[in-house]
This record gives sequence, C-alpha cells and structure tokens, in this order.
Amino acid sequence: MATNRTFTMLKPDALENGHTGKIIDMIIQAGFQIKAMKLTQLTTEQAQKFYEVHAERPFYGELVEYMTSGPIVAAILEKDNAVADFRTLIGATDPADAAEGTIRRYYAESKGRNAVHGSDSDENAAIEGEFHFSASEIVG
Ligand code: UDP
Ligand code: MG
Repeated sequence: MATNRTFTMLKPDALENGHTGKIIDMIIQAGFQIKAMKLTQLTTEQAQKFYEVHAERPFYGELVEYMTSGPIVAAILEKDNAVADFRTLIGATDPADAAEGTIRRYYAESKGRNAVHGSDSDENAAIEGEFHFSASEIVG
C-alpha cells in the first residue's frame, strides 16, 4: 500500500450512536478518497491481534471487549500526507483533549469509546489495511 494511504475504523460507539454518515461525510469533506470500505464485526481474536501492541496495557481487555461489542466500519483512505492529516482530523485520543472541529471532539464518548481509529504510521497503515482488506476489495 502506498504511503499516501491510511486506515480507519469507525468504532462501535460511533455506529451505535448514529454517527456513521456524519463521520464519513467529515472524512470526505476533508479531502480523503475512500479506496476500500466495509461494515463488519470483529471477533475477539481479530481485535486482540489488531491491538496486540497494547497487550500489556491495563486497558487492553476492555478495549478488545468494546471493539467486539458491535459492528464497525473499516476503510482505507487516500490523500497526500494521509496518516498525519487523518490524525489531525480525528483529534487526540481523549475527546477532552481533542481540538475543536475534530471527529473525536464532536463524536467520541470517552477516551476508550472514542468513535474512530486512525493509523499512527505509514507502516501500520499498510499492515492494518491488509489486515482488513484483500487486494480485490481495494479500488485502484
Ligand atoms: N485506549 C483506552 N484507554 C487509554 C488509552 C487508549 O481505552 O488510556 C483505547 C482507545 O480506544 C484508543 C485505543 O485504546 O483509541 C488505542 O490507543 P492509542 O494510544 O493507540 O490511541 P489512538 O492512536 O487511537 O489515539
Ligand atoms: Mg494508536
């Protein structure tokens, strides 16, 4: 996957709270092109693997439980400087710290239930995109 791509998930709280369409609209209005998108629900094994890097953190168990609690929307997004620009668009992990105008500021419930995931590096964007999508599910 090229370095002008990032990976996102709209998390279970975003879907439960009816924010799916509004968040996707913010993403498109910010200049991201959707290259792949699906509605799915993570299994415990998938969520454990996806968040493996946090396995030793105290919130890991709760995070896996929450991420498997309902459907998510997974997507690959394209834009110049995609990873950094998307992190700016979503805002800080804790909505209390998220800048005005960011997705988490508008839609996150809490530091844990924070509406949206964004990859933190080009390398992880590629790994996470490939975790969720096969080549035939990604448009050119
Ligand atoms: N998280 C949590 N408690 C914390 C830190 C993180 O529940 O103290 C959850 C939250 O859903 C966050 C995810 O774990 O989005 C991954 O954490 P990370 O530090 O990578 O934050 P992000 O990159 O999502 O901003
Ligand atoms: Mg992270």
